Amino acid sequence: MAEPLPTVQDVYLARQRIAGLVRRTPLLDSPWLGQALGVPVRLKLENLQETGSFKLRGAANRVLSLSAEERARGVLAVSTGNHGRAVASLARALGLRAVICVSEATAANKIAAMRQLGAEVVVHGRGYDQAMEHAARLQREQGLTMVEPFDDPLVIAGQGTIGLEMLEDWPELDTAVVPLSGGGLIAGIALALKSADRAIRVIGVSMERAPVMYHSLKAGRPVVLEEESTLADALVGGLGANNRFTFRMVRELVDDAVLVSEEEIAAAMAGAMRQHRLVVEGGGAVGLAAAMRRRLGGAGRRVAIVVSGGNVDAAVLQQVLGT
Ligand SMILES: *Cc1c(COP(=O)(O)O)cnc(C)c1O
Repeated sequence: MAEPLPTVQDVYLARQRIAGLVRRTPLLDSPWLGQALGVPVRLKLENLQETGSFKLRGAANRVLSLSAEERARGVLAVSTGNHGRAVASLARALGLRAVICVSEATAANKIAAMRQLGAEVVVHGRGYDQAMEHAARLQREQGLTMVEPFDDPLVIAGQGTIGLEMLEDWPELDTAVVPLSGGGLIAGIALALKSADRAIRVIGVSMERAPVMYHSLKAGRPVVLEEESTLADALVGGLGANNRFTFRMVRELVDDAVLVSEEEIAAAMAGAMRQHRLVVEGGGAVGLAAAMRRRLGGAGRRVAIVVSGGNVDAAVLQQVLGT
């Protein structure tokens, strides 16, 4: 029998649990993208979240739910950077041991940030999947508790708190545009929004380079793709060997999934900087890119776009602004 999926009640419980550790982020009006789409557009600024991405919300909900015994042994995470940084930050705040497994492809600024927070960072393998295998071994050998980046009901519920805040700040929103990789972010947000109003459209955006969830939705089952290098480094990676929650939820709750190119992501990062003085990383900018290129279908009348992270390497940002 299929495992039960998280509910909107879990999202409210998550909000209570994590309130002391996460920021309520602003929903900023964007005349720039409003003009592009011809309707009001607002940006949910998770690039301004503590640790620079929304990953803190889901990870906090998971880590705060650990037993005393699990806390004493410590936590483990596999990450392209932002999830690991969130787990490292929480471990520091709560006085836990944290081991973060990353691949050689992980951005240098993100590794440095995790080490600065006191986490033990283990670099292993060429891609996310190899880092994952290594982590599974450490988990067995050292009794650490794995904090999943997306495929966990507590993590999904934590990300869903973004949806609650969006609804409170803009009850009339009818379309949400959300970066999409493993699907924890969009599943949680869609859960919150659709339990308020089934008719709110939720659109996922991924990069053209190896968009695993996009192709999995088309195929009707999780697929595996070779990783490619992309400006949206936070969106790289598969759905896991045995996806339990996010694929089912995304299939059920997400209305559409669209892709953006590397050039479009770069233009969106530059636009966010020039128009709003906001530092947005590639993975955080895909929704902006889709709006700029009017890639959202019948966009709706009040569009909220989730800007999911801001942890971009200075050299990359400079390059993007130079073009
Ligand atoms: C992890 C991440 C995403 C994707 O979240 P999923 O839950 O894996 O879909 C999007 N943007 C940023 C900045 C991220 O760190």
